[in-house]
Amino acid sequence: MIDVRDTARMRMRYHVTTFGCQMNEHDSERMRGMLDALGYSEADSRAEADLILFNTCSIRESADNRLIAHLGEAKRLKREDPSRIVGVGGCWAQSLKDEVFERFPFVDVAFGPGQVNRLADFLLSDSLSAQGYFEFESFTGDLPAKRGRATQGWLQISVGCNCRCAYCIVPSTRGLEVSRPLQDLVAEARAMADDGVCEITLLGQNVNSYGRDLRPTRASFAELLGELDAIGGLERIRYTSPHPKDMREDVIRAHAELRSLCEHIHLPLQSGSSRVLRAMRRTYDRERYLDRVALIREYVPDVALTTDIIVGFPGETEADFEQTLEVVDAVGYDGGFTFLFSPRRGTEAATVTTGLVSHDVKLARMERLLELVQRRARERAQRFVGRTVEVLVEGESRTDPERLRGRSRHNKVVNFTGLARPGEFAMVSVTAATSQTLAGEERIAARAVG
Ligand code: SF4
Repeated sequence: MIDVRDTARMRMRYHVTTFGCQMNEHDSERMRGMLDALGYSEADSRAEADLILFNTCSIRESADNRLIAHLGEAKRLKREDPSRIVGVGGCWAQSLKDEVFERFPFVDVAFGPGQVNRLADFLLSDSLSAQGYFEFESFTGDLPAKRGRATQGWLQISVGCNCRCAYCIVPSTRGLEVSRPLQDLVAEARAMADDGVCEITLLGQNVNSYGRDLRPTRASFAELLGELDAIGGLERIRYTSPHPKDMREDVIRAHAELRSLCEHIHLPLQSGSSRVLRAMRRTYDRERYLDRVALIREYVPDVALTTDIIVGFPGETEADFEQTLEVVDAVGYDGGFTFLFSPRRGTEAATVTTGLVSHDVKLARMERLLELVQRRARERAQRFVGRTVEVLVEGESRTDPERLRGRSRHNKVVNFTGLARPGEFAMVSVTAATSQTLAGEERIAARAVG
């Protein structure tokens, strides 16, 4: 017999807004999958939704500010229809815990990144009075997924982080590192491949320390890569983010040996000054980082390297900053994400009161850094001109609907003219390159996936 609450739920609609990193994108896919399994359907806008959800991030101040603005809209919608449910999940919710309800009394349910499953308990319970769930219980990767793209999927391999980077809120919001068992991951990847996924991205706060906590049998990240590479149908494997301190030779060698492991490594630098790296508690220095880059290029000379850099960490002098510029110039990244340091509540760096870098100095340094990152990326990208690259098509080009857009194995965005459809591979002859994108023309008939 169908419960009346089940039929009511079948008419209910949800809307999810995601802030922050790819792990949050993944968690939101799982939230959607879980809500669909409960009988909810997805609404196009918050105004049409009975359940308004925010999957939040605490890493950057800009994400906080945008979230507050969006919460204002949710408050107004809830006032118009008090039966609406407003939920806040993710790292920002976890960092505030029950304070969420004091500061935002219209929020009905709040949960941290390890309690997405508890959203279902809340929705299925008889009493919908305000509830908060903040103890790590399960991997969101164990929940059903509703993938944004049919041929690309995320695989959450671990949660949490054992590092203590001075600027990062993750260890206190996502806790210590917990790896998912290797055989569970292989089974999930196989099921994804059977379902038509040809590219997977492995997710973890620190992917390459994967498996050291597993008992009774430890596993290594390189071992996991090898097992996944053996799965038929998986054409591309990517991962994010590795930590330079854990970038061991077996993982680097895997890039040269495994057919499906892409020729792209995102290796966060953060600073080129060993002194600043020490203050950041990154546990590697400039020499170790450059040594890893040299080893990567020895095994995979054509690899694409990208990075993250923080400008204006407390204590960063002009000489420190110039060391960052030197490393950027020496490595020649294919792309980089650059951030102005801003203190995050609850982190060690937020307690530092000396050696603070003024906003104007940070901006001036950022401008110099961006110019160099982009110039080197543009120079590096010229090596693709005249080559034919394999592109997994994602859809229309964002700037020209007559053209297509996809990504190469080196993770370059490629805009091109051709006939391939989303989810297909196209062989594209590259005719031009900027710091961010490649342009070209499809050369041969697209190869269907699967
Ligand atoms: S490695 Fe550092 S920056 Fe990355 S999640 Fe862990 S603590 Fe944060």
